[in-house]
Amino acid sequence: MNEHAIGTQPASSAASIAFFERVNHITAETTHAPIPTYATDAPAHDSFGRRIDYLRISLTDRCNMRCVYCMPEQGMQFMPRPELLTTDELLRILHAAARAGFRKIRLTGGEPMLRRDIVELIGAVKAIPGIEHIAMTTNGLRLKSAAGALKAAGLDRVNVSIDSLDPVRFRFMTRGGKLDDVWSGIQAAQAVGLTPLKLNAVVVRGLNDHEVVNLAALTLHNNWEFRFIEVMPLTGVAGVAQDGVVSTAELIERLEAAYGPLASLGQSHSDPARRYRIAGAAGTLGFISSVTDPFCSTCNRMRLTADGRLHLCLLRDNEVDLRGLLRRGASDADLEQLIRHAVMIKPWGHGLPDGVLPTLRGMSQLGG
Ligand code: SAM
Ligand code: SF4
Repeated sequence: MNEHAIGTQPASSAASIAFFERVNHITAETTHAPIPTYATDAPAHDSFGRRIDYLRISLTDRCNMRCVYCMPEQGMQFMPRPELLTTDELLRILHAAARAGFRKIRLTGGEPMLRRDIVELIGAVKAIPGIEHIAMTTNGLRLKSAAGALKAAGLDRVNVSIDSLDPVRFRFMTRGGKLDDVWSGIQAAQAVGLTPLKLNAVVVRGLNDHEVVNLAALTLHNNWEFRFIEVMPLTGVAGVAQDGVVSTAELIERLEAAYGPLASLGQSHSDPARRYRIAGAAGTLGFISSVTDPFCSTCNRMRLTADGRLHLCLLRDNEVDLRGLLRRGASDADLEQLIRHAVMIKPWGHGLPDGVLPTLRGMSQLGG
């Protein structure tokens, strides 16, 4: 493991120049360039020594909602179908990723439940040697009827997004979502054991920040984790994010004013949420502070887009094209090598004072 794995940016030195060059370099990675050969007898680590074992897969960029912090109201262009990975292509990539050391998979989107073969897909992913855990992040609209089949196919747990407990506000924030349907989906997920259940709210000042005390109250009697996410300035929603960020520090202050001191439960290595508990509550609170306190030093993840690119860091444009390699007839061994290479060139992360924001994709293409 090298010096950059310990969590801070390196001190000024030749190493730090190399570090910043790597961090700030927006890679237009092509698979035509020769790549080094990587050993295949150990799980992949990046050049900063981080073990990367968590893959978030955007199954589709389409969605049955249009959340104000995720998609612009108009002008969304969705990927043409031939651009999307087929199920066979996706499974080939996942077999190779598992051989490279990926162990945890999250299915996301867009809305992953729009994928017609979602149940069969989960079954096939569950059968891949090396994959230990499959979770899904969903808006919950279609969860009620499908929860049992998803669980039976091998899905371990779900995160459900729920930004408001007021149906009118919920409809406004999601541009059309029905709170009742999401709530039934949450109940169904709990009933079939897609647990521990995590609920997500993106907090936007002036829209739902006055609801955080009520949202947190859901943890008083339910063994759920309620997660508050700082809104991020991705393509298409920069305006919402610009004035909308409510810092974790402010949220905690507001919650402590209502509930008294929150007990800190710390942070697990592979989870960006800082966790707390209201005194006596059955469940926990999580705070994801991507804007005010990024967690790059413990990053263990990469994203796979629906059109087959490995997206190396949420707030960077760096990508590696796996679909291109696949469609040129690559072997499974070639695919594994390119995945290992993508891990190796993963940038340090975001939160650096360079002011560079990604422009390539919005959150609905990246999956959160
Ligand atoms: N459609 C599913 C859902 O909403 O749960 C999965 C995809 S959505 C892109 C994944 C996560 O990203 C959700 O928890 C959503 O709230 C979050 N998200 C979307 N836009 C965001 C933004 N601008 N900043 C922070 N989180 C965002
Ligand atoms: Fe759809 Fe999820 Fe984005 Fe909302 S956050 S628009 S539900 S992808």
